[in-house]
Amino acid sequence: MVREERLRVQMPAVLSLGSNLGDRERTIREAVAEIGRLPGVTVVAASGLVETAALKPHGVDTEAPAYLNAVVAARTSLSPEQLLDALGGIESRHGRVREERWGDRTLDIDIVAFDGLRIDSERLTVPHPRAADRAFVLVPWLDIEPTAALVGLGRVDRLPAADPARVRHYDAEPLL
Ligand code: ATP
Ligand code: MG
Ligand code: MG
Repeated sequence: MVREERLRVQMPAVLSLGSNLGDRERTIREAVAEIGRLPGVTVVAASGLVETAALKPHGVDTEAPAYLNAVVAARTSLSPEQLLDALGGIESRHGRVREERWGDRTLDIDIVAFDGLRIDSERLTVPHPRAADRAFVLVPWLDIEPTAALVGLGRVDRLPAADPARVRHYDAEPLL
């Protein structure tokens, strides 16, 4: 009973969206709308879009199609694992396939942060372990939450990867 009561309260979550295959802008736009339609999820804010070269395990790959990324602030009564599953459903509906690590993809949605928690389970690590190094996460996040902080690392605007010069602004209609 206590647990059920708790789960009805909406917790803040920060989500990172990325696409480098197909109609990237349309996919991200649709994904933001689909996140907002998930039961138990409310989208509070959506950043502008940024464009960056693809990053592969061996480094920046200028041959691969470039990424569009955005960050969404949400509130949710889902548990972190339930949210991960729901986001995976949206990825699948947009044709996401997982072959090689960091391979080109129609849609990736990651949980950057969840209610200021640290989570380390088999399926989920929060805060996202690579978010602090990724300009394509930090710059759009600061766009919607200028005082954002990462558990254990402090203010996002003080991290070297938060440098806006590391991403290209991508001109588009607002996502929300
Ligand atoms: P990266 O994690 O470096 O951004 P990726 O997003 O391409 O890489 P995926 O193939 O989308 O990686 O996901 C691999 C696994 O990561 C998923 O099966 C999921 O269980 C796990 N995972 C762990 N922590 C998170 C998180 N915070 N957000 C999303 N997925 C996560
Ligand atoms: Mg990812
Ligand atoms: Mg992912």
